[in-house]
Formats: sequence, C-alpha cells, structure tokens
Amino acid sequence: MIITLKKGVSDEQIEGLKLLLRSKSIEPTVSRGAVETIVGCVGDITHLDPGLIEALDMVETVQRIQEPYKAANRKFHPDDTVIDCAGVKIGGGHFAVAAGPCSVESEEQIVAVAKAVKASGAKLLRGGAFKPRTSPYAFQGLGAEGIRLLSIAKKETGLPVVSELMDFKDIECFNDVDMIQIGARNMQNFNLLKEVGAYTKKPILLKRGMSATLQELLMSAEYILASGNPNVILCERGIRTFETALRNTLDLGVVTYLHKLSHLPVMVDPSHATGHAYMVDSVSVAAAAIGADGLIIEVHNDPPRARCDGAQSQTPAMFDATMARISRIREVV
Ligand code: PEP
Ligand code: MN
Repeated sequence: MIITLKKGVSDEQIEGLKLLLRSKSIEPTVSRGAVETIVGCVGDITHLDPGLIEALDMVETVQRIQEPYKAANRKFHPDDTVIDCAGVKIGGGHFAVAAGPCSVESEEQIVAVAKAVKASGAKLLRGGAFKPRTSPYAFQGLGAEGIRLLSIAKKETGLPVVSELMDFKDIECFNDVDMIQIGARNMQNFNLLKEVGAYTKKPILLKRGMSATLQELLMSAEYILASGNPNVILCERGIRTFETALRNTLDLGVVTYLHKLSHLPVMVDPSHATGHAYMVDSVSVAAAAIGADGLIIEVHNDPPRARCDGAQSQTPAMFDATMARISRIREVV
C-alpha cells in the first residue's frame, strides 16, 4: 500500500500515522520529497480498510498494491489447485465436462440424459433441484425429490453429481451430491458461503454473479476458503452488459486472467453465457481452446418441453458432436 500525504503535513502528524499503521502490524517507510511525502507500507493488509486511511485529514490518496484475497491468491499458492471430485480431477491440466439438464424433472428424464452424456464423455452429471427462478410462478425445481432422482442417475451411470444449493437449511439433502454449486445469484450471499465452507470440504462450484467484478468473485471464493474448504472451482457464466442479443456477455479472457491471479480451477458455462443452444458448441470449443479447466453444459432429452432453460439446452446429439470437437481442440492446444 502506498499512501501519499497532503502538502504541508507536520512531523507530528507523520509520527501519529506511523503509530497507527504499526498498531495494525504494518511497517511504514516515509520518503519526504520537496513536493510530496510518500509512505510505503509492507505487511499483511488483508485486515485493513484502505478507506480508513484515506479518510484521514493528512492523506491525499491511498494506492493498494496487494490484493485483498490471500487464500485464493497465486502469490501465496503458486501451484495450480487440482480438485478431486469423487475421483474426477479438475485443474492443473485436468479437464472435465459436467453436463445435464438445467432442472431434474423426472427419473426417466435424468437417467436418460445421464446415460447419454456419459456415453459422449461427460465426467459429471449436472441437474438443478433447488432452482433460483426470476418468477415466483415459474417451476422452482423438485427440491429434495430432485436430489433423490439425481442419486438414482448417479447409481445407474457412476457419474458424480453437481447441484445448486440455494439455502443452507437444505444442506442435509446434499449428502449424496459430489459438487455443490453456488449460483450466480448467491455469489455474494456471504452467510451461505461461510456456512457451506465450514460444513463441508466437498468441491464448490462458485459461479460469477451477473454483475460481479473478478475481484468480487475472488473475494467470494476467499470466504469459502477462509471458512475451511480449500476445494473451490470458479465458474465464468457471462455477465450482464448493455448487450441484450445474448442472455449474458461472456468474456473468455477472464479464464486467462483468473489463472494468472489465482491457483483455483476455472470452468466455463456456455449455456447460461449465451442462452442459445446453437451457440453452445462454438463457445465450448473456444473455452476449451483458451484453457478452461472444464465446462458445465445444459443438455436435455427434449429441449422444447424442458421446464427450465430449454432454449439453451443442447440435445444429446448436439452434445455428442460438441464433445468430439472439444477433444480434438484439446489435443491441439
Ligand atoms: C444454473 O446452472 O442452472 C444456473 C441457474 O446458473 P447461474 O447461477 O449461472 O445463472
Ligand atoms: Mn439453467
């Protein structure tokens, strides 16, 4: 952190500031120039609010040079984190695709989709049971029954399952879920992040909030990590911008950026990112090419009749073609 002081600041004021910083375990170095006085600070500033220093009368500006996240920071953890989800590895060169319907609708549906996506090479089965819907009148998911049906599909195929937890009160239903998704709408539900991080070490798929910056995404990951669960996967699923042609705006450069800043694996969701089934193939290939550690793709056996997100759901045949292209592109990169 670099603090620039206002002109005419007295030695007494500087001594006061040094004492304040030292009380927060920060070691200040003062450089007095003819025009400006600069205070360089070294030490762990994760617990310090720079706004507090900026609010002091003598202070002109405060510049943060250290990121506010620590556990998620590659500086403190140079090696890639490899997540092991019931034997499926993600990160550090390991790539996996999770696929399945937006929502679990029936045993027949989830088992049929699970078998199809497994045959095409998916390593995980996705399926929502507790659904965050914009409208209270829309299908809200089958809840605990949905998780039970997901377990049946898991038994039939051997695919580990990923499903979204919206409310910690439902955590008991998730005993048989292998990866817990925290959805975009709950990315900054800090109590949920803390509760889930303290309760389980199961992998958490943390999706980027629709208007969250990357720093906010990493700070949310930090909540889970700091609560005791080191197994976090970040997920880019597009954000809201002025553009309305697609459901969201996907910035694939985020994958490279997050890999630079953090050791955590990064997955991409081409389904929610685009909102259109016909785009999922090309975007998946692009995500694999840029170095995503995995994808989460919506696949439905009968998209026109899907109870949720049918327009962006691939058919099993489309998914099969996409998986073949992804595997070729991965060989190339
Ligand atoms: C989902 O995966 O079905 C979902 C609701 O995703 P998001 O939280 O990214 O909107
Ligand atoms: Mn969906």
